Amino acid sequence: MNPKTERIRERARELLQSEQVASVIGYKRGTEAHRSTPAFVTQPDECDDLIFDCTCAQNLANYLRKRPGKTAVVVKGCDARAVAVLCNENQLKREDLHLIGVPCEGLVDTDKLAATEGVRLADVTELAVEGDAVVVQMGEEEVRLPASDLLRDECLGCLSPTPVLHDELIGEEIPPRDEAKFRELADRIEAMSPEEREAFFTEQFGRCIRCFACVRGCPMCYCTTCFAIQDTPQYVTRMVGLDENRMFHMGRAMHLAGRCVGCGACDRACPVGIPLRALNTKLAAETRDLFSVVAGMDCDQKPPLVEFLPGDTEEALDTH
Ligand code: SF4
Ligand code: SF4
Ligand code: SF4
Repeated sequence: MNPKTERIRERARELLQSEQVASVIGYKRGTEAHRSTPAFVTQPDECDDLIFDCTCAQNLANYLRKRPGKTAVVVKGCDARAVAVLCNENQLKREDLHLIGVPCEGLVDTDKLAATEGVRLADVTELAVEGDAVVVQMGEEEVRLPASDLLRDECLGCLSPTPVLHDELIGEEIPPRDEAKFRELADRIEAMSPEEREAFFTEQFGRCIRCFACVRGCPMCYCTTCFAIQDTPQYVTRMVGLDENRMFHMGRAMHLAGRCVGCGACDRACPVGIPLRALNTKLAAETRDLFSVVAGMDCDQKPPLVEFLPGDTEEALDTH
């Protein structure tokens, strides 16, 4: 058992036994060794189900609203940033939460893993990130591969592997990753001509089946009824078509500008593989350049598009 898993189990048990919290939300093993799933633990003897490794993908901030009693939650860097934004937007009360922060080595991208020579996904029994390597265990066989080839793109450019917000930290702090990787998608879009950009997004949005899995997976999409689903007033018809899809995606992107924490849950949820972060990262890079704001990094920072400051530049005001 890895040391982080061991410590999380211990702390969850202590918090429940001492009745400091009513429940603990963390991760447990999924149906296969390369998957995990959220775990909702209310009894000390359930704590042995908890795990933490490079398969713990879901952003657990998504499960915190309207919970009864104080909740302890395991947070990676991107989960903690989501909690910070949700607290700032009055969706969560900080005093109702106990944040078990875990510095995060990154998530293994199972699509990249499946495409790797010598790896049989169905035979994987354990996955771990150790320094610059991903260690793939397939029964007795162990394969070490470069992490730069196998981690998810959002993790390779992660600005906050160590949770900025936490009540306790399990493990050594991990410094921010490659800034250039964070901007890579945004820079790629920036380098396109308007015609190329139009063609790129038309191709992507044209494939959308409007299943709303991206909305459901995103901790920042908490409206009771999404503007893209509501009937009165109706902003977008429910028809699946390029114009409707475009309206949905542009509307959603604007709602997320300055709020997206870059967790990649939307990309992972999409059944047709639309790179949603392409748009959201572009807007995140814009809000960073214009307002010096990275969502969820400063616990008292209001989203930049809902706040005006006396020093805002003309360019920034135009963006509002
Ligand atoms: S985005 Fe950062 S904190 Fe989130 S899973 Fe990837 S490396 Fe971990
Ligand atoms: S838009 Fe995607 S990357 Fe951004 S917070 Fe939502 S799920 Fe995470
Ligand atoms: S998850 Fe993908 S297919 Fe479904 S609504 Fe979102 S972008 Fe469209």
